[in-house]
Amino acid sequence: MARKIQAIRGMNDILPDQSSVWLYLEKTVASVVKSYGYQQIRFPIVENTDLFKRGVGETTDIVEKEMYTFEDRNGESLTLRPEGTASCVRAADQAGLLFNQVQRLWYTGPMFRYERPQKGRYRQFHQIGVESFGMGSADIDAELIILSARLWKKLGLLEHVELQLNTIGLASERETYKAALVDYLTQYKDQLDEDSQRRLTTNPLRILDSKDEATQAVLKNAPNLEDFIGEESQAHFDRLQAALKANGISYVINRRLVRGLDYYGKTVFEWVTTHLGSQATVCAGGRYDGLVEQLGGKPTPAVGFAMGIERLVLLLETLDLIPEDAKFSTDVFVISMGDDAEIASFVLAETLREAHSDLVILRHCGGGNFKNQMKKADKSDARFTIIVGQDEVEQGICQVKDMSTGEQKALPFDDVAAFINAAL
Ligand code: ATP
Ligand code: MG
Repeated sequence: MARKIQAIRGMNDILPDQSSVWLYLEKTVASVVKSYGYQQIRFPIVENTDLFKRGVGETTDIVEKEMYTFEDRNGESLTLRPEGTASCVRAADQAGLLFNQVQRLWYTGPMFRYERPQKGRYRQFHQIGVESFGMGSADIDAELIILSARLWKKLGLLEHVELQLNTIGLASERETYKAALVDYLTQYKDQLDEDSQRRLTTNPLRILDSKDEATQAVLKNAPNLEDFIGEESQAHFDRLQAALKANGISYVINRRLVRGLDYYGKTVFEWVTTHLGSQATVCAGGRYDGLVEQLGGKPTPAVGFAMGIERLVLLLETLDLIPEDAKFSTDVFVISMGDDAEIASFVLAETLREAHSDLVILRHCGGGNFKNQMKKADKSDARFTIIVGQDEVEQGICQVKDMSTGEQKALPFDDVAAFINAAL
């Protein structure tokens, strides 16, 4: 036997018994974002490596160690997208959709990061991203958060997630803060973990994120970013909080929240849950007013977020929040005996599908004896089995069996659709 080829580590197949949850989630998101006027944008999975180097930032985890980068046959450096924001900006700007315009966009699809695979963390994972462009005021930050809260409400997740919020100020404010932080931390360099020592020169803000206890102990007396936030950033943050409060959205302010990507400024936020272990963040985002310009476009304010589909699916499953009607199930199973009956059963199944486009109608293919076909009908868990036999065809009728009661009834072909409609 030939050796079977396995999927790549950290890249999962989404099998039929899971895909209905994905479809349910995607459908729910699509309807919520649409109700806020967001339109879908689709862009390629592969981009020039420079897009992510410049967009995400050279010293971020993603660019330093997580990207799938390769040379194509021309020797050009390409990268499987590790996130969607940089691509979204590239695509929208390339199409001339950004300058002096307001855009509300969303996307969904696979992202690729070379990370250590574990529950809730994969090498190919999927995100749904929502991005808005051309609006600099805090009300759009609030709109995005309120939109996400509505989504959690629709999914039954609102009470299982917590909104964490912070402001990281303007780039200039962060620069002043970074200098103060580095001054302070340099005195205790020996006590910092290895990653944090390196970040002292590359990306000092990320040290605030460190999970290392000794580093956290040193950080206790470090200067606070909060004290470096200027008036404009603070006013923006106050405005956002007022809008959230007015809409009944609870949140906690997490002063340590800085986010791993370079492009954020002012607002940053995460929705976290206690149900998924250390892969706790299901949705993360913030304002990134500098990114469009950084990627060669005209200055354009922007804010957005991305959610991890795998983590949301895990959460829905863990909390048993998948509605019955979102699960795949067969409603009607159609069997037939004999050639004429087989043809008639086709026509009957089509008539039913025409009348009830939302029902799952499974027609047994390949004939076989009555007993075997009935077994398959049983196994399908269908509510009704329709049996078309040779005698029935001649009379223009079929047998409709209610599988929950075992009751069987002869019905003219033309009456079956109405009967099923009344019963289901
Ligand atoms: P983390 O801190 O968990 O590594 P991140 O800050 O790298 O997350 P973002 O780049 O902000 O994550 O991506 C947004 C969301 O995408 C995350 O909150 C998470 O739900 C999901 N996500 C990120 N990386 C992965 C991954 N490797 N596997 C599955 N989901 C992921
Ligand atoms: Mg990460």
